[in-house]
Amino acid sequence: MAYPVLQFMGVSKVYTMGGSQVHALKGVDLEIREGEMVSVMGPSGCGKSTMLQIAGCLDKPTAGLIMLSGTDVSALEDKQLAQIRNKHIGIIFQTFNLLPHESALNNVIVPLQYSGISKKQGESAAQRALQSVGLGDRVHHKPNELSGGQRQRVAIARAIVNQPSIVLADEPTGALDQQSGREVMGILQRLNSQGRTIVVVTHDKDVAGYAGRIIELSDGSIVGDRKVKSKKVPKKEIEAGARARPVAAGQKICARCSFGNRPQARYCANCGFTLDMSPKASDTMIRRMAGMMVNCPYCATPNRPFAKYCISCGGAVDDALKAGYGEGVKA
Ligand code: ADP
Ligand code: MG
Repeated sequence: MAYPVLQFMGVSKVYTMGGSQVHALKGVDLEIREGEMVSVMGPSGCGKSTMLQIAGCLDKPTAGLIMLSGTDVSALEDKQLAQIRNKHIGIIFQTFNLLPHESALNNVIVPLQYSGISKKQGESAAQRALQSVGLGDRVHHKPNELSGGQRQRVAIARAIVNQPSIVLADEPTGALDQQSGREVMGILQRLNSQGRTIVVVTHDKDVAGYAGRIIELSDGSIVGDRKVKSKKVPKKEIEAGARARPVAAGQKICARCSFGNRPQARYCANCGFTLDMSPKASDTMIRRMAGMMVNCPYCATPNRPFAKYCISCGGAVDDALKAGYGEGVKA
């Protein structure tokens, strides 16, 4: 029997807003073993993201125990949690959160800068990670020279570059067209077949079907947990997606965060930045905004002052700042 990588024991999460309380998770028990690929499925608001954030040590439960590879992480201090996140957890979000002016390679290197390896080792690790998502020949491309699906592949490479014990993905196909989404799930399957433990959170039944086990969440409780025969994505589809389609035609790429927006969008759906400015004006604006930004204590990426999680590495910006960890300073 494989080793348990993630265990939840009676995990509850209550958010207090004003005078009222939201019970987002209600005594969840769960065990995910090494080498599994699991989907957590349920409607919007049922507690999926809360569960993933707690599993990823981005947030703490109100009650219950979390074990990661046999270590009780519920009792750890923020600084220790930050170290665990960097080493043991890879996180992928719906939006790709890449540094817009950096190459794919530099984006993937980010989490390695905090694991104490040399620049050269970092580069070859990043190169290998990009290779494993089919982008070995696009390492010098910047986000705006890649399609949405390819950008999510870069984010996946960044999530696995540290060889984490578990990869957590929150609606990883949510910002993609159906075919690119299918390819992203195919890549996660491929990584799983190489032994990686993967948890994908989704509201989409079709997306959930790419995993070998589906956990159903409803109103903060697990109401179903079954092994299924997963849909497989053929290798040639994954490879075609890596080569084809650069930027989707008509998309407006945000100058600040590189998110691909609808052609008629005025503000970026990811970071709120104004889209229709001259390159010079937007450069000035980005620089001026940088003065109000808070650098991520883990990867030094500038984040919006009210950001909770770093747009680049997923680290908890505000928690870490409060805990006084790392180089977090107001820029
Ligand atoms: P899902 O990802 O399944 O859509 P979430 O985990 O985001 O669900 O949310 C579960 C419930 O908790 C929802 O009712 C949501 O409104 C609430 N919630 C989530 N985050 C917060 C928060 N930071 N403060 C207050 N309520 C929250
Ligand atoms: Mg969610």
